[in-house]
Amino acid sequence: MTQHGDAVPTAMWIIPHTHWDREWYEPHDVFRARLIPVIDQLLTLLDDADEYRFTLDGQTAMVEDYLAIRPENAERLSAAVTRGQLAVGPFAILMDEFCCDGETMVRNLERGIRIARAIGGEMRVGYLPDMFGHAAQMPQILKGFGLTDAALWRGAPAAVGTDAFRWRALDGSEVRVEYLWDGYGSALKLFDPPDRVDRLVAEYVQAHASRLCGHPPAGMFGTDHMSPRADMLDLISRHNARHPEAHLVLATLGEVVASRSHDAVDLQALPVVDGELRSHARGNILPGVLSIRTGLKAAMARAERGLTTAERLDAAVGGASRRKLCEHGWNLVVESSAHDSVTGCGCDDTAEDTLTRLHVAANTARGVIDIALPRLAGRIPAGAPAAFNQSGWARGLQGETVLEVSANDVPEGAQLIEALPVVLGDEWLPVADMPRVLRRIHGRELFGHAICGYRFPTADGLVFEVSRHDHGTFDHAAFSQELQHRLARGHPEKLWHVVTRALPSYRVLLTGRAAGMSAARLLTGGAVEHAVHVSERTLDNGLVRIDVDDDGLVAVTDLPSGRAVARALALTDEGDRGDSYNYGPVQSGAVTRPTEVDIKVEEQGPLRGRIRIRRVHRLPVGLNGDGSSRGSDIRDQTIDTLLEVRGDERFVRVRVTFVNLVGNHRLRVHVPTCGRDLPGSVAAGQYGVTLRGRVGEGGWGEFPLPTYPAARFVHAGGVAVLTDRTMEYEIVTPGTDAGEASDRPDEIVLTLLRAVGLMSVNLHPLRDEPAGAELNVPGAQYLGTTVDTNFAIDLSCPDWDDSDIIRHADQFRFEPVLVTGTGEEAAEPAVTPPLTTHGRVALESLRRLDDGALEARLVNYYHHPEPLRVRAAGEWDRTDLSGAVMEERVPLWELDVPAATILTLRRRPTIPSVVTPPREKRREFSQETEA
Ligand SMILES: [Zn+2]
Repeated sequence: MTQHGDAVPTAMWIIPHTHWDREWYEPHDVFRARLIPVIDQLLTLLDDADEYRFTLDGQTAMVEDYLAIRPENAERLSAAVTRGQLAVGPFAILMDEFCCDGETMVRNLERGIRIARAIGGEMRVGYLPDMFGHAAQMPQILKGFGLTDAALWRGAPAAVGTDAFRWRALDGSEVRVEYLWDGYGSALKLFDPPDRVDRLVAEYVQAHASRLCGHPPAGMFGTDHMSPRADMLDLISRHNARHPEAHLVLATLGEVVASRSHDAVDLQALPVVDGELRSHARGNILPGVLSIRTGLKAAMARAERGLTTAERLDAAVGGASRRKLCEHGWNLVVESSAHDSVTGCGCDDTAEDTLTRLHVAANTARGVIDIALPRLAGRIPAGAPAAFNQSGWARGLQGETVLEVSANDVPEGAQLIEALPVVLGDEWLPVADMPRVLRRIHGRELFGHAICGYRFPTADGLVFEVSRHDHGTFDHAAFSQELQHRLARGHPEKLWHVVTRALPSYRVLLTGRAAGMSAARLLTGGAVEHAVHVSERTLDNGLVRIDVDDDGLVAVTDLPSGRAVARALALTDEGDRGDSYNYGPVQSGAVTRPTEVDIKVEEQGPLRGRIRIRRVHRLPVGLNGDGSSRGSDIRDQTIDTLLEVRGDERFVRVRVTFVNLVGNHRLRVHVPTCGRDLPGSVAAGQYGVTLRGRVGEGGWGEFPLPTYPAARFVHAGGVAVLTDRTMEYEIVTPGTDAGEASDRPDEIVLTLLRAVGLMSVNLHPLRDEPAGAELNVPGAQYLGTTVDTNFAIDLSCPDWDDSDIIRHADQFRFEPVLVTGTGEEAAEPAVTPPLTTHGRVALESLRRLDDGALEARLVNYYHHPEPLRVRAAGEWDRTDLSGAVMEERVPLWELDVPAATILTLRRRPTIPSVVTPPREKRREFSQETEA
């Protein structure tokens, strides 16, 4: 084991670094201010001594944040990277791997590598120091960018007794993990006091000898927001002078990982860990972040969905590039995915900044859609309602629109939602005030409508007729002249009666069918095969039926199979004495029964049926004085549950909405399964599907609460719950808590809300060590905040791996983009679908690239191979995630997509292609990891 060409044995690597949470217990701008002197000092140290090394935390966000304030230091920073002294990237930000989507992780690496290459090149190690566990597909994502190594700490199982392991994704992709078994500050304690360095180092190496198998350990010297240590070189050279037989060697993490053997034989000898890393064995994984500030998780998913839709519409309609806007939106999403950002475990300012950033990302997506839609509208007949289906699958669409028709002319097959107000203005004005009326008119516009007529029914009366559409004529000058004339003639003391009337109009629900990713006219009549029938307590479309009991609980039946669950959607509210990181149970005071229930049909079908269940629960306002139980002050908490069945859909949509009125509690909703004492659950997320047992692995100072993340769906006992964001769930067997026998089936229990008042409590019932400061975060109580949760119950996929569950989840979460035509009568389709999926492989991303090529990312979530079954024009190559071509001209229909595989395809540009620039030369020390 040597380093820097000399032959002195290395006793231990020392990797100076700082772990930089870009925002956490302080907001981003405070931490950025603190970052400036840290990097200023670091650059001086790197300039002054060639031997100094520093690892900038695996993310490029710090580089960008610094250079935005100190652009004059760009060259010095870049020179340090190029000299190999400073390691940056490969990520743009250290994301939480469960609170964002797979595509956000891909865009994160894409951006991080691009930024790092602009300043000298990225560290070729997927460094994941502090994330609260790791997603199953991360090795596949890293490999997709040619990264063969990772370095991490939290989540690895107790069985790993070495300093390295092979981490295998669901598709079999493997990376070598430099296992930081005692955290990212392992070497911190070895240098204080400085006169004990020799002994502390020797003891450390001795203590971990069995794990190290003769390797020098990777000593991580740094912690959160730490400045580089100026006397480090001095300390090391003095140690090495005393111990010529065992040197400490300063290195970047990239250099250390590159020094490890990557020979096939040596790699084969390492233990293998499959899939996600969520063990509590050697570090806390803080699972309560999944259910705190759930609005952040919803905002993340909304922004991701919006940008996904915007890119697909952009690709479908073509025209001037909108890529920079999309990229801007994705950058905001990536920044927000940081492990103290979307997680919600920071101060209130951080949560507000993150929420705003995610709103801006979603609005950026809306902006892209806004400027792309006219190209689509122009190809649809004027006035015709239509919708853009962003899904890769053909599907039925529904959309609300406003039709300006008389009551008798609401078309058959359209579902009437509401009649809109006809009288927009009705007022009595003195003559002197009548010029006001003129000032309200802009051209033809009045109150957001177009004036299509006016009349003077009496000597001092005026009626405007206005329309949502710009038809008819209005001569402003003639009107103004006539009004002045009448005012001059009339009695100056009389009041004028001015009325503005709109043409009758109705909000209606229309339906249509899109053949693939394309625009479809929303038609009326006969478009729904399975219409929804609604009675006082029932929604039924022939595929799925729900029956509401008097107490507000619900039976769901999948009609083709007859499979059913009863007594669904019960609510349980419990006290929470924990913090933003971990749920903290209290001894008593769970509330399970409502005191009032009101059930009301809101929509009658035939396209969409809705029943609203309003329940009032009497909840304790907070905890008692010492926090051990719930307090005695009680407040009525109203919770609305909207059940929705759509024509032709084989699942039930559920939306639970309430304004949270009490603190320190956890509210969960129960969905029964069709099994009892289930072995576990299956849940999707981050481009993969993970099978989980019922019990977590403990070992460190945290109780392994079996609450888990799910995005897209969670499945247990033959029942699927479809989700539109990351949600926390637990599989619960009823009755066991109270110790009483029960034959009720197991339940999927979803957390709707966790409300707490402290970022991290010092004394936590389920966690030994504080996760941060005991900081007040009143914002995390969500008092007065609207909590809105969407999910669906699907009984049609009893065996998830042989079902259409992925297509259903896609259909559930994407609402089409509505548009009204502005063009000539035209033959459909208005756009040629760039790509349509006919099998079970999901389209996850489709975007135009700068060189005119189109890139599609598809995922086979199933644990067996599936044929691709894609129809798309043009010639497509298969690439890795970085865009490097792996296979030319792949057959889109027949291609077999292996189990759990992320597939990236690239359509060759129709314009003369720009030659792909050669990939930049990799840094010296990482060559061997590439071999
Ligand atoms: Zn951190």
